[in-house]
Amino acid sequence: MTGSNQSWFERAQKVIPGGVDSPVRSFRSVGGTPYTVVSGSGAYVVDVEGTRYLDYVQSYGASLFGHAHPDVVAALQTAAARGTTFGAPTPGEVQLAELMTARVPGLEQVRLVSSGTEAVMSAVRLARGATGRDKILKFDGCYHGHSDALLVAGGSGVAQMGLPGSAGVTAGAVGDTIVAPYNVVPTLDDSVAAVLVEPVAANMNLVVPNDGFLSGLRRECDRVGALLIFDEVITGFRLAFGGAQEYFGVTPDIWCFGKVIGGGLPVGAFGGSRELLRHLAPLGPVYQAGTLSGNPLATAAGSKVLEMLTPGDYVDLSARVATFADNLSIAIASTGLYAATPVAGPLMGLYLSRTSFSPPTNFDEVKVLCENGLYGPFFHAMLERGVALAPGAYEILFVSLAHSEDDLARTVELAAESAKAVARS
Ligand SMILES: *Cc1c(COP(=O)(O)O)cnc(C)c1O
Repeated sequence: MTGSNQSWFERAQKVIPGGVDSPVRSFRSVGGTPYTVVSGSGAYVVDVEGTRYLDYVQSYGASLFGHAHPDVVAALQTAAARGTTFGAPTPGEVQLAELMTARVPGLEQVRLVSSGTEAVMSAVRLARGATGRDKILKFDGCYHGHSDALLVAGGSGVAQMGLPGSAGVTAGAVGDTIVAPYNVVPTLDDSVAAVLVEPVAANMNLVVPNDGFLSGLRRECDRVGALLIFDEVITGFRLAFGGAQEYFGVTPDIWCFGKVIGGGLPVGAFGGSRELLRHLAPLGPVYQAGTLSGNPLATAAGSKVLEMLTPGDYVDLSARVATFADNLSIAIASTGLYAATPVAGPLMGLYLSRTSFSPPTNFDEVKVLCENGLYGPFFHAMLERGVALAPGAYEILFVSLAHSEDDLARTVELAAESAKAVARS
């Protein structure tokens, strides 16, 4: 590929709004020009200028084995040669659904869709249809995709852009959405169809649930007959072999998945018990559909990834991330800045400050840290040194199974150098 990042971004901006197809990819909150990626391999990506970056974006969590794993590539090649979409049932979708339901006790059926947004949007419709109630409750700073009703108080790009929600969303569309602070069990009444939660909040940087938060939600939902929806689009098959339920020992009524289960292709899924999923068309009155749902390419990649994952992978990756997180905060603390690197399994956040602080427990605390102006300069210092973090303070670090101990150790050294430069400025 020829051309510079600058020239590609200029071309992009002429034909694509803001030059990006998802706002989180723009460098709006950190400044500068995005690097345009031509390829990736394992833990690394290469841009149009031939610069190689150690990549902690990893498609915001869609790749757990790193980029272009040879076995995933081979599975895709085989699937592509057989035809990419039929509009009829395929073995691939059955196999992916079997792999998912076998790993998560209580998840008896899933419906496959093409994105996390669709999964959560459909899960909410199912919850409303099954309960006959209208209200849903979400938590401040949790991101559940960009469907209208859920775009209030979202984290991730919504927070990065400094938007309270979004223009173009009617008051009616969000009128039945209640927003509550993360880590406090709300008191519900019987107008609530469902409580929607990221079991680990990973779109407002990282916020770990307090002991008793998720189990408290379970109890409160049961008390009023509301359904508990775990949005596991990030945590699913990443936090643990069986996802957040296995990790925290709390079982939701509806699960939403995306990212990891697509092996790098567009997939989402939502599911629950057979009894609950009976409400879904063609069996029941809750309509939901998709031309490319259960797409053969996507299910081939997703199934390959799930087949390759072992319970030991999660133990190894979590241990590697725990050490990395400790080393990173210690290294940064020697530079004049303070860092917090909260972890949950292999998920890891990064907060910087000039003064000592404890890891945040809700979105208000997150915002104070993420808006202190340190992340942008730190991000650029790291990028100059060949380490690509997400271009926004509200995102987390995605360490993949392809990140070696050497990669992580080098990142710690470069982070110390970067923090030193930022502390001086
Ligand atoms: C990424 C994400 C979504 C949306 O998924 P898309 O595939 O981007 O539509 C929903 N919920 C959570 C928790 C996510 O991280």
